[in-house]
Order: sequence, then structure tokens, then C-alpha cells
Amino acid sequence: MSQVESQAVISSTTHSDNATVRHNWTLAEVQALFNLPFNDLMFKAQTIHRQHFNANEVQVSTLLSIKTGACPEDCKYCSQSARNKTNLEKERLLEVEKVLEAAEKAKAMGSTRFCMGAAWRNPKERDMPIVLDMIKGG
Ligand code: SF4
Repeated sequence: MSQVESQAVISSTTHSDNATVRHNWTLAEVQALFNLPFNDLMFKAQTIHRQHFNANEVQVSTLLSIKTGACPEDCKYCSQSARNKTNLEKERLLEVEKVLEAAEKAKAMGSTRFCMGAAWRNPKERDMPIVLDMIKGG
């Protein structure tokens, strides 16, 4: 896409950026977005972001690994897979109390979002009550 074409994409969609969220994107419009030069895409994203959010405010989030390593899956890129030799110390699912302590600490440090990552494709049935307690807060 040429510079002129990409500018046209920005211009033609800017006037509707203040409107409600669109659900009627055409394939050509989506492809035009994908084809934007990176800096034009960044400019467009920033323009829209600034219309809806404080431009310089970020959400502080904390991520805790609640189960590390020994995942039975075989994702080639992942250090958590039991099939990849990464010397990772595998851990059992953390206790609920430890997770809640970490969440409280994160909140006290300013986090407004607490994320939990676990090395599995999906929890086992026996793990679900524990994970539910973590989500509910004990
Ligand atoms: S933790 Fe997720 S990404 Fe990593 S091997 Fe398991 S399923 Fe794949």
C-alpha cells in the first residue's frame, strides 16, 4: 500500500472513531489496516486511544505463575513444556493462601489487575476447586 492509500484509510475512518464500536468491517477495510505502515498504524491507534483514555495512564498488573513447569503439552517455544530441556524447576499448583497473599501484596504495591499463569493446557478436574478458590479470593 502506498503512502497516499494508507493516508486515505486513516482519513476515511477517523471521522467515525468517535462513534460506537463497529461490527461491520469489510475484508478490504481490515486488509487496509493490516497493510498500514507501522508508524501510521501507531498514529491511528494512539489517536483512537487518546479519544477514550488518559494518554499517559497505564494499568499496573502483576502476573504470578501458580503452576510452573511439567506441562504435558509439546509447544516448541515454551519453557514450561516437560518435553523441552530448560532446567526449569517444576512446581506443584501453589496453595490458595500463598496466591491470595501474593494478590494482596500486588494490590498494596498498586496493581489493579492480578493475573495467574499455569503451565497446563487446561486444569485437571481435581485442580478446579483450588483454582476457583483462588479466583473467588478464598
Ligand atoms: S504451558 Fe501452555 S504454551 Fe507452554 S507447553 Fe503448556 S500448553 Fe503449551
